[in-house]
Amino acid sequence: MDEPSPIIANFGGNVRFQPKHFYAPKAESEVLDILNRHALGKIRVVGAGHSWSDAIVSDDVLIDLSQLNSVHVERDAEGNAWATVGSGCTIQHALDELARQANVTLPALGLITEQTIAGAISTGTHGSGRHSLSHYMAEIRVAAYDVRTGQAAIFAWSAGPQLRAARCALGCMGVVLSVKFRCASQYTIDETIGQYATLDEILSVEGEHPLQQFFLIPHAWTLYAQHRKPLPPEQTSRSWHAGLYRLYWLLFIDVGLHLTIKLLAAWVASPSLVRFFYRWVLPWMVWKPSGVVDRSDRILVMEHELFRHLEIEIFVPASRVREAAHFVQDVLSVFDGQETSPTLSEALKSPGMLERLQSLRGTFTHHYPITFRKVLADDTLISMTADASEPWYAISFITYVEPRDAFFELASFLAESMAALFGARPHWGKYFPLESVHVAGLYPNLAEFRELCRQVDPKGVFRSAFVNRVMGEDSV
Ligand SMILES: Cc1cc2nc3c(=O)[nH]c(=O)nc-3n(C[C@H](O)[C@H](O)[C@H](O)COP(=O)(O)OP(=O)(O)OC[C@H]3O[C@@H](n4cnc5c(N)ncnc54)[C@H](O)[C@@H]3O)c2cc1C
Repeated sequence: MDEPSPIIANFGGNVRFQPKHFYAPKAESEVLDILNRHALGKIRVVGAGHSWSDAIVSDDVLIDLSQLNSVHVERDAEGNAWATVGSGCTIQHALDELARQANVTLPALGLITEQTIAGAISTGTHGSGRHSLSHYMAEIRVAAYDVRTGQAAIFAWSAGPQLRAARCALGCMGVVLSVKFRCASQYTIDETIGQYATLDEILSVEGEHPLQQFFLIPHAWTLYAQHRKPLPPEQTSRSWHAGLYRLYWLLFIDVGLHLTIKLLAAWVASPSLVRFFYRWVLPWMVWKPSGVVDRSDRILVMEHELFRHLEIEIFVPASRVREAAHFVQDVLSVFDGQETSPTLSEALKSPGMLERLQSLRGTFTHHYPITFRKVLADDTLISMTADASEPWYAISFITYVEPRDAFFELASFLAESMAALFGARPHWGKYFPLESVHVAGLYPNLAEFRELCRQVDPKGVFRSAFVNRVMGEDSV
């Protein structure tokens, strides 16, 4: 049913548009009708609108699949649980249903649970220590075009290059209708928090804590790690302090820390107070418990969506993470007004970006911990760890300050310089300042991906202005 077209805004408030046609189909057959009706137009799907990039923008047709949100779990002969999930199902609803129907869970989880499953896989959403969620998709059903007839049709891919392309496709392989994946048994995680002076101390215990993530604290330049190890499925009980820890995390981190950052960086707008806070106050706010055991879907997530913010996340190969961490610290220091160090000056000579950095000196005081998460190499064509021979680290930069022009300068500088120096890839669903000229060299499988898209979308119906900007005009 063609409904009056609403104005669409994303979570970050940085993307706002009004499509010509807006549909919220209740059945797959309606999706096929929409595709046939607009076979000469442009079609995008919106999930939960939690991407900061322009990935959802469409001037023509926008489809909301939130009503296709069923979850069905079945067991195979070996007892493995397989879930078939409707594309518009939120991660939270999927978690609840997987637990209720078969006491199982998702194979990977990011920091929040508000995204839809199709939106999450379409940009390579990830947590720490595992592959992105995209990698685990065993079958993907999409509505796209049959090249022989030009009519809309349903394709189900459970192997081969089409599956690898559809696992993370930014909407370019068609409208995802449902996904199927093998569930993980419900499990608990043991978490210990530690504070460190060097990255090496954290990386040296990664073997014992494969799901760990860590934070570089701006201005103090110390590190905190959430050391996390999954426990065997039979170990189901929470530790005595798990409830207390969750309450602490909600009050002191999700609310307290974020309110303080908003206050100092955005409302009072004082760089000196931001520096003072990280150097002298934060260490007193961080509880460093050891051996907190809780269910994975409680320990891995936080209420990060409580305060509106904007993020860029940049992936570097694991073998370059130490270098990248020093680089990030040096660049942020210059943006905060310090002199360019000799090492940084030398590094920026080859991409020819030294003058640009110097012209930006003192324009932005970074005000949020920089998160590092390890993501294993994905069996996909274009997710951020696709075609990799080693794990990657996703390094995230967040701002709570608006307007965001100074942060955008920082984000563009980091994305371009790190692409040139480390072959770094920005997250498709987060702020994405790179153009096709930069992206082309970062993804060796891009040409194959474009060709596979053409096979189900010869007229470029699923090709948007964003896709053209980041993958090139004649792409897909
Ligand atoms: C507070 C917050 C925390 C976050 N934490 C993490 C994190 O921990 N890890 C991480 O990796 N990312 C994280 N993200 C980013 C987020 O997971 C991704 O941007 C994700 O793509 C958003 O999902 P969505 O359902 O909102 O999709 P949308 O943003 O609505 O859409 C994303 C893309 O998917 C396409 N799409 C959606 N549904 C379909 C469909 N059915 N068929 C075809 N294409 C479709 C859209 O067209 C678009 O290209 C976070 C974002 C926010 C706001």
